[in-house]
Amino acid sequence: MDIFIHETTVVEKSVKIGKGTKIWHHAQIREGSSIGNNCSIGKGVYIDHNVKIGNNVKIQNYVSVYNGVTIEDDVLLAPNCTFTNDLYPRAFNQDWAVTSTLVKKGASIGANATILCGVTIGEYSMIGIGSTVTNDTLPHSLMVGNPARLKNFICQCGSELRNVNYASYKMKFQCSNCAKYFHIDFYFS
Ligand SMILES: [Zn+2]
Repeated sequence: MDIFIHETTVVEKSVKIGKGTKIWHHAQIREGSSIGNNCSIGKGVYIDHNVKIGNNVKIQNYVSVYNGVTIEDDVLLAPNCTFTNDLYPRAFNQDWAVTSTLVKKGASIGANATILCGVTIGEYSMIGIGSTVTNDTLPHSLMVGNPARLKNFICQCGSELRNVNYASYKMKFQCSNCAKYFHIDFYFS
């Protein structure tokens, strides 16, 4: 399980790169960042300083993961999806603060989607192409639009779920594709 780093990639000092990870043309991996095992880092990707990327993460072309953004295991970031880290952007602010963003295990963020800083993308949540996420997303939620709204819940396999049983805040679902049953526990606020 060798590491592959294309010769045009810029890797700064104190970077950790896990086994089996591949990094493609013109990526930039900034100082102090860490990338887990078996990741794929596409062409032109920018990993900012001290960013943590989990295992089995796929980051497709031209995504920038800025300081303050954390990516857990099994996450997919599709081409050109956008993160931010400054909630009050002003060119002339000298003392701006980083606002953190967390993308939890198994989540997928569609091409050209934009994620407001400060939100948490729930486990196995999927963000539709071009959507703009302005709030935390529930586990297994399918979010679409601007601002992104809940369209359905989805399985680990990516297919939409059928709601089998609903009782206040506990829901039991069955996947329309792989037929797997499971509960999603949460409170609507
Ligand atoms: Zn399924």
